[in-house]
This record gives sequence, structure tokens and C-alpha cells, in this order.
Amino acid sequence: MFTYSDHHADDAALSSCGTGGLGEHGRAAQRLERQAAARKVLLAHRIGQAIFDDMLCLDPADLHPGVGNAAEKAAVGEVSLQFGVSRTMAGRWMELGTMLADLPRIRIAFLTGDYTLNRVTILAHALERLDPDLRETAQDTAIALAQRPVTDTVLRDLLDELVITVDPDQAATDREDYADRYLDLTITNDGQGHTAIEATVPAEHGIHLRTRIDTLIEQRLCPDDPRTIGHRRVDALADIHALPGAHLQCRCGLPTCPKRRPGETPPDTTAQPNTTQQPASTLVLERRPDTIARLRGHGAIDPAHADHIAAMPGVTIITTPGPLTPGPLAPGLVTPGAGALSPTTPAAVPVDPTGHGGYHHPPPGALTYTPTTALRAQILATDRYCRYPFCGMPAHRCELDHLVKFDHTNPSAGGWTLPANIAPLCTPDHHRKHLGRWIPHMNTDRTITWHNPETGQSLTTYP
Ligand SMILES: [Zn+2]
Ligand SMILES: [Zn+2]
Repeated sequence: MFTYSDHHADDAALSSCGTGGLGEHGRAAQRLERQAAARKVLLAHRIGQAIFDDMLCLDPADLHPGVGNAAEKAAVGEVSLQFGVSRTMAGRWMELGTMLADLPRIRIAFLTGDYTLNRVTILAHALERLDPDLRETAQDTAIALAQRPVTDTVLRDLLDELVITVDPDQAATDREDYADRYLDLTITNDGQGHTAIEATVPAEHGIHLRTRIDTLIEQRLCPDDPRTIGHRRVDALADIHALPGAHLQCRCGLPTCPKRRPGETPPDTTAQPNTTQQPASTLVLERRPDTIARLRGHGAIDPAHADHIAAMPGVTIITTPGPLTPGPLAPGLVTPGAGALSPTTPAAVPVDPTGHGGYHHPPPGALTYTPTTALRAQILATDRYCRYPFCGMPAHRCELDHLVKFDHTNPSAGGWTLPANIAPLCTPDHHRKHLGRWIPHMNTDRTITWHNPETGQSLTTYP
């Protein structure tokens, strides 16, 4: 579709082409972009490396402690000027090039156009943590995980889980090194009367703060509050810290506001005492003897970290339930918790399309619309995230959807309430599913294949 040389023609092609096959052209352009990015980064690394090597070949008399550091600075500086990017960016490219030197299969996949720059960086950082033998074994698993239709954040969680599984002690050491290198809080002047706050804090502190902010917004604001979600969070953070004049209060202005408390004045700058209760528990640690512990809202954490969090006051520890009991059509195939380590797609066999999970007679609970607490807990522990492609919404914040619709007037005829017919979907994706552009089919290994009948494409998501 594009010439890449006659830009006016390409511009015209964009407005004149039909709508069929646009996705295909888009994906081809995206692949070229990624291929070019891979070449750019690897070239930048070559350029930097040449400068670095030159500096280290100086007269030995000039070699003194710190020359390596100076050589690195010179290399980064040169890449920055050659490409017209910041030193930070140049440093990242150099670092990526260095890591990829030891990861041949990932380097080739990068050149092939399989990854964005961000995704390959996440992959390389994860594998770099393992020692060479383990890295070699883990590389194929990591490549397979990176091909799944998951967001970069979910991929990072899957790779963390992989590293923790392969070498839990290394994972704990890495976490401590990470703290030494990256723990940071900066409060700098932003434009037009504002301040920018940026921080890297331990996961448990981040989750605690996020939960408190979300809870306060939930407690004090009704859906008609006119602020954006970002604005609400800023106001909630200020309230929590009792900053001067800060008080989070609904601004809907409706006399019927359900969040308005008796005697509350319309919002103004009068600070009022913070009377809202703190959430009972902001940290939820999910443990199961046979798998890696997870900090709810964050993801996989190493065993030492889990022990540390478990010892903190006010932490809720949940022992997550055992594997989902597969229906008759899925004997022994569902292995929750092993998702990250079984990257190869087994022949995906669709479950019984009636939504009955292969049962002839409804098992207990199958004809009740709402899943039992036990079934809900099992599904959340197995699926972890929204099962729509490229969504990172944690499962505990999703709705449990019947893939084959439950029939309220005749429950035995519709899809049943059982594992093979239930999956977590976040609210927006639940709505998207109902638009019918991508249609889900559960397979016996609990993968879900999303099929687009219009384009013929399929994407498979994993528990
Ligand atoms: Zn309101
Ligand atoms: Zn979703």
C-alpha cells in the first residue's frame, strides 16, 4: 500500500484506500517500524562500543581507575549526538545492545520485528538476571511468553514469575539491588504553577497508597463528580496527607448526592477533619504451597519478599484454592499457576460449544447465575487477569462472564455456571465482547481463542 519514498502518494493512499485489509497494512507498517528500531538500537550500540574500545586502547600511561567510566560516558555522549537523543535514551540503547549480545535468539526476533523496543527491553532485563546456564534454558520460555497477546506490564509479571521459579534466591537479591539503584522520589517544578512528583517505592507501599486513594475516592465521590480520574487521585492524595486546604468532597453539586454527608458545606477551601475510615486492609498476599506468592494488585513476588510482607501488621493473607477441577472434556489439562512455565500452545481443543463444559447433567451450582464463592476464588486464582487480549486488568477487579450466555428463563438450555464457561472480563472488555467483533471460545486447557470472523484473525489468551 505504501511506497515509503513518494510521501504524497502514501498520503493520498491513506485517504483513498478502501477499509478492507487496513489492519494488515497497519501491521506491515508496524513490523517495518520495529525492524528499523532494532537496527537503530544495535547500530547505536556498535557506535558506542567503538568509542568505548578506542578509549580503552589509549596509552597505558593514561589508564587510571575510572577510565572505564569515562569511556562509557564518551560512548553514551557520542550516541546521543549521533542520533539526537538524550543521554538517558542513548544509555538505554547501549545497555539494551549489551544485553542482547548474549541473547542471540531474542536479538534475531527483535530484528525480525517481533517486539517493540519496550517489550524487548523487558525481556532482556528479565533474562539478564539469570546466570548463563539458566538463561539459556529460560530463553525459549521467555520468547513464547512475549508472543502472547498480553500487555507489557503483564509480560513483566510473567517473566518475574519465571525468574522467581527458576532462581528464587537470585530474585530476592535482584530485588535488593533494584532498591539500591532505583528507589527514588523527586518533587520538581512543573509548568504553570504545578509540581511533578515521581517515585519508585517498594511494591507494598505502592499498593497500600493506591488502595487508600481508590478507597477514599470511592467513599467520598459519586459518579457525577466532574473531575477526571487523575484529578480525583491528586485531590485524594492531598487529603490523605492532610495538605493545607485539602479535603476530598464530591463536586457534583446535586442535593441528592449519595456521598454527601449531613452538614457538609459545598466544596471550598475550608479544610475539614479527615473522618473517613482507612480501608481495613490494603495489602492482600495470595499464597499457595505449590506456586509463587502474589501480592494482589502487583503480581508475583519472591519467597523472601512474601515472608517480609506476611509479617507486616494488617496484611490479609489468602491461601488461594487449588487447581480448577476440569470438566469431563478436559481431563488433567488445567494446571493453574503453571501458565508462565508452559508456553507452548498445546493443540487447543475447544470445549463443548454449548457452554455445558462437557457435562450431560448440570453439576451443583451450574444452573445458578452467580458463581459460588469457591468457584469465583478458583477462577480468580487461575486466570489472574482479564481474559480479553492485551488487557492487564487484575482478575479480582473484573466481572465473571458466562462465555456462552446464561439463560435466565431456562438455565439448563443456556451456558452453565462452571469453570469451562466462566472467565473474568473487565467492564470495558465485557462490553466489547458483546459488540461481537471478536468471539471467544474456551479450550480444554483453559486458553481462550478470540476469533474475528470479519478478518479471520485469531488471538489466544492464557490462564
Ligand atoms: Zn456527588
Ligand atoms: Zn479487560
